[in-house]
Amino acid sequence: MSRKLVVLGILFGLVSMIVVGWSTSPLTINAENLASSATYSEQQGYQQFVKQLPQRVSDEVTWKTPFYMGNGGLPRVIRDCGAYITVGELLVQQEKPEMPPLEPRKQIALTFDDGPNNKSTIQILDILQKYDVKATFFVLGQNVVKHPDVVNRMYIEGHEIANHSWGHKNLTKLNPAQMHAEIDRASEAIFEATGHYPTSYRPPYGAIDASVRQEIRLTPVLWNIDTMDWYHKDSLKTLENVQANAKDGGIILMHDIHQQSADALEAVIQYLQQEDYEFITADELNN
Ligand SMILES: [Zn+2]
Repeated sequence: MSRKLVVLGILFGLVSMIVVGWSTSPLTINAENLASSATYSEQQGYQQFVKQLPQRVSDEVTWKTPFYMGNGGLPRVIRDCGAYITVGELLVQQEKPEMPPLEPRKQIALTFDDGPNNKSTIQILDILQKYDVKATFFVLGQNVVKHPDVVNRMYIEGHEIANHSWGHKNLTKLNPAQMHAEIDRASEAIFEATGHYPTSYRPPYGAIDASVRQEIRLTPVLWNIDTMDWYHKDSLKTLENVQANAKDGGIILMHDIHQQSADALEAVIQYLQQEDYEFITADELNN
């Protein structure tokens, strides 16, 4: 009698281990295994729980949790509505870990005046392309008609092309008709080269007054960091000037017609990138 009890006990133990082991082992609940193995009510519960999940994760959720088949055939995760959202939110949080808010990046604009030509301007475009930096070129109409292909390249490569007048005259010394002739003729040349009219202009010498502002309806863009490159024609001085004066919201004035300015550009970009500046164009600056 006691032997039978022992054998029965062992058998019961084995069966219990198998049942418990099976019923608590993690299973993946998804549409496929529910369709093949679950009861109708489980499938309904699954559909309901999927509806409650944020749409973004519901398609991909695989649900690993002890899957109890007893008690009416409903898996615990499906009976316990409160848990679905919690776990769903957890998944969303895992996708987007909490990060401290990012500081807005410092912005700076590289601007080049008086071009284009077909040597140093090309070198500058090559360097900008190499570093994936966008700049603004304030071109002279009289140079645009000499090198429309260079201006077209500027446009294709995403730089801003702005108006620096036709022949670099001081606009404040001109009457309204002469001002328009200087600016409008350059705008037409830019349109001829690129198919687009400029929206900004830089008056030659930075010379601007109320009557220029009133007559010229483009957005005037001056500068606040002068490299003086046209004066010293020294690549190192150009770089040092940028290093000494770079600031958020800075508009750097350089001239693409000088070889020394083209030669300074690579080091200028490397310095500004190292200082974590974001390069923007004059148009982005105005908006
Ligand atoms: Zn100029």
